[in-house]
Amino acid sequence: MKEGIHPEYYQATVTCNCGNTFVTGSTRKEIHVEVCSKCHSFYTGQQKSNATKGRIDQFNKKYGMQSK
Ligand SMILES: [Zn+2]
Repeated sequence: MKEGIHPEYYQATVTCNCGNTFVTGSTRKEIHVEVCSKCHSFYTGQQKSNATKGRIDQFNKKYGMQSK
């Protein structure tokens, strides 16, 4: 599969490790990232949305950890 010499801008589908997907402009059609804006707060701890908190609880439950 050969790409053109001059990269065009695509509507790239970005897939994050957290399962979130979103579309952005890129020279690539598909992008895989480890952290996106949706789950970034999980790492920084600066924001704690209910959705993120639920994920953490699920994670803790799955791995038998107590969240405190
Ligand atoms: Zn993410």
